[in-house]
Amino acid sequence: MSQKTKETINDLSKRIREDILPLFEQALSNNGFIFPNPDIVKCWKSLDCQTTSCILYGDESEAVRCWQVTGTYCGGEPQGSFVQKYGSCSNCKVFKESCPTIVEELGEHFNNVMFLLNKQKQKVLEDNRHIEHLNQELLSALEQLDVKNREIQEIMITDKLTGLFNRHYLITVLEDEIARCHRYGHPLAIMMLDIDKFKSFNDNYGHIAGDKMLSFIGALIKENIRKFDRAFRYGGEEFVVVLPETDLTLAYIVAERIRKGFEAKSFSVNRKEASSEKTASRTLSIGITATFAYKTNNINVEELITQTDKALYQAKSKGGNICIRYE
Ligand code: GH3
Ligand code: MG
Ligand code: MG
Repeated sequence: MSQKTKETINDLSKRIREDILPLFEQALSNNGFIFPNPDIVKCWKSLDCQTTSCILYGDESEAVRCWQVTGTYCGGEPQGSFVQKYGSCSNCKVFKESCPTIVEELGEHFNNVMFLLNKQKQKVLEDNRHIEHLNQELLSALEQLDVKNREIQEIMITDKLTGLFNRHYLITVLEDEIARCHRYGHPLAIMMLDIDKFKSFNDNYGHIAGDKMLSFIGALIKENIRKFDRAFRYGGEEFVVVLPETDLTLAYIVAERIRKGFEAKSFSVNRKEASSEKTASRTLSIGITATFAYKTNNINVEELITQTDKALYQAKSKGGNICIRYE
């Protein structure tokens, strides 16, 4: 080996040690770091390119390496991305002129690896942002679904005309309340209300007037019960109220309030045949029962309803407009 070759090898080794090896360390702490190469050649100058529509035509910036740019027009042909064209780029005149020694070549290969890593990192970040966005959309769709579900559940247990709960929901509520009543030994009262002579009201003044009376009762019952009592439309003109933590005496007081409130109400009506405007009123019969876990072991929903029904039947047989307790 000649003295000159030895000197060249020594010189290159020194440059690799000083210029290239520290790049790897720096790259670990600062991934935007690149090997600074003062020999970068501009492709359009080196190849004497006339494709003025090429994205790099006329570009003078030092940091731009044509092999890293997607869609250049090398030799008049549109090229693909960095990964697609890289094989041919590393053999291209421009790359070779940009790398006069093995040091620049290593440095540029290092830059290319970093470029690719950064691209992949950006893609991962973009994917993550997309996933985050999809997650947000999913969350808001789930929230909307939850709201809709609650609305549907509400509709499923509500009687539209009176705004009270419906009969279907009564059974669920009663089963829960009876279980609670047995578990904690708390009293539970039930009342059943039925409009007296409602059929004749409908017959005389029409179904619309009858409907108004039913919706009035819904509001009247709600006004007279507590927040945790629940009222149901049991049938056409029959209603049930479930009063937790309430004994027979207290339930009777509530029932009387509702009965009197309804008796006092007069509805403006239109008689079907003779169309003279007038008012009409009706009364309520109410049957009440109350259970106390220690005394009524294992009473079930059916028995409780039957008891209330019997009390209501007595109220009817006494001529209506009365509250009767099952005892
Ligand atoms: P009683 O004094 O013995 O309770 O008799 P009633 O006439 O009140 O009871 P009956 O069972 O004979 O008639 C109930 C009526 O309720 C018959 C039906 O047309 C009416 N009805 C049931 N549902 C509705 C409704 O949603 N709207 C209206 N307007 N009427 C209804
Ligand atoms: Mg009835
Ligand atoms: Mg009736």
